[in-house]
Amino acid sequence: MAKLTRRHFVRILGTAGTGAGLLGWPWLAGAGQAKGRVVIVGGGFGGASCARYLRRFAPDVDITLVERDAKFVTCPFSNAVMAGIYDLDFITHDYTALRERDRVNVIHDSAIAVDPVGKTVGLAGGDALKYDRLVVSPGIDLQWGAIEGYDEETSATIPHAWKAGSQTMLLRRQLEAMPDGGVVVIAAPRNPFRCPPGPYERASLIAHYLKQAKPRSKVLIYDAKAKFSKQPLFEQGWQALYPGMIEWISETDGGAIERVDAKNMTVYPTFGDPQKGDVINVIPPQQAGAIARTADLARDGWCPVDQRTFESTVHQDVFVIGDASIANPMPKSGFAASSQGKVCAAAIAANLGGHDLPDPSYVNTCYSLVSPEYAISVAAVYRHGADGIYAVQGAGGVSPKDAGETFRREEARYTVGWYQSITSDIWG
Ligand SMILES: Cc1cc2nc3c(=O)[nH]c(=O)nc-3n(C[C@H](O)[C@H](O)[C@H](O)COP(=O)(O)OP(=O)(O)OC[C@H]3O[C@@H](n4cnc5c(N)ncnc54)[C@H](O)[C@@H]3O)c2cc1C
Repeated sequence: MAKLTRRHFVRILGTAGTGAGLLGWPWLAGAGQAKGRVVIVGGGFGGASCARYLRRFAPDVDITLVERDAKFVTCPFSNAVMAGIYDLDFITHDYTALRERDRVNVIHDSAIAVDPVGKTVGLAGGDALKYDRLVVSPGIDLQWGAIEGYDEETSATIPHAWKAGSQTMLLRRQLEAMPDGGVVVIAAPRNPFRCPPGPYERASLIAHYLKQAKPRSKVLIYDAKAKFSKQPLFEQGWQALYPGMIEWISETDGGAIERVDAKNMTVYPTFGDPQKGDVINVIPPQQAGAIARTADLARDGWCPVDQRTFESTVHQDVFVIGDASIANPMPKSGFAASSQGKVCAAAIAANLGGHDLPDPSYVNTCYSLVSPEYAISVAAVYRHGADGIYAVQGAGGVSPKDAGETFRREEARYTVGWYQSITSDIWG
């Protein structure tokens, strides 16, 4: 088998979604000899992508996906659900196609332990699954207690809404119940965290709702950072659509929240005055999902990996993808997790089939809705070099700063198109 060049692999990943163009690489087109048992923990953006593409690259491999929930509710577009633009069904997906079309054995249970020597995954239900290769894609956990007074119990009244579903709807109901002239406080976390533009898209779409329903209200973003993703574009959008309605308080101006008093609906910054909110949304600091930490895959909260294959640098034959992994400079996004899932699937298929390791390319695009008719984006292509993943110079970029209304409206259309195509690529 000839060694794959980087250019070849870019083409493979680019065409795999359509199922076309794989003739030059028979093993990736499914004609390989790969055999073995692969267990994947987590059926979100990373894990479900990995399962689906592994089936394409290695038709004879036994694939088991362990996912705790029967349905997956995506964080992408959850800000739009919270703002009343879409309903929860729009962002809810199930595992029927993975089970029936991709012949993935989907088990709804929680992985609670990994034995990297005996190569088993223990499930809460009592079973132990044997694996030859294990992929872990559990997403994030919130660091309860990192902000004084903010724990899991408090999130029942002060939502984080950083995992979509009931938390999204709780925040929605609170916005609906808020009086006109009220104050919404969003506490944005320090880096690294899931979805760098997410808190600012959230502020935008809350303002969009308030502008129509409660126009005298305000949104205050208390930030543990001194700058944020797509900042000039967001600020320009806020100026154009919601003048005077959204205020961003940088960490340097006392934006970092160190305490929450849920009873009095007040947040306390590290310096400066406390702030009351009619609705408070605390997005706490984050870490890799529990199973990654329990399985001793994490160091300082996140999982180091060989960024070419996503194999853990701690345990052999265990791969960590998505938000839980350290994949800088890729952001913790659904698109990035899905791209990593495909790269990881190709690496496992090559490895189990005795083929040369592919030379990967990764992509990410993050669209953000500032309103349903106004969106901005950032895109990047990444490759792997001697020092790990790097962004390809000149590929991607952010939306132009001074684009007109038509451009922003087109980007809003692309945002919906992006969502429909990635969710259908993964769960459709
Ligand atoms: C408000 C918001 C908006 C966002 N918008 C975008 C966007 O527009 N574009 C974008 O690309 N990204 C966006 N993101 C980021 C995106 O949601 C995440 O980066 C992505 O979900 C990460 O994928 P993952 O596979 O690592 O984790 P997830 O998608 O969270 O999947 C993890 C899965 O693992 C399961 N799981 C965890 N532990 C276990 C266990 N022990 N046993 C069994 N199952 C387990 C969970 O139930 C979950 O289904 C957004 C995030 C937020 C919060």
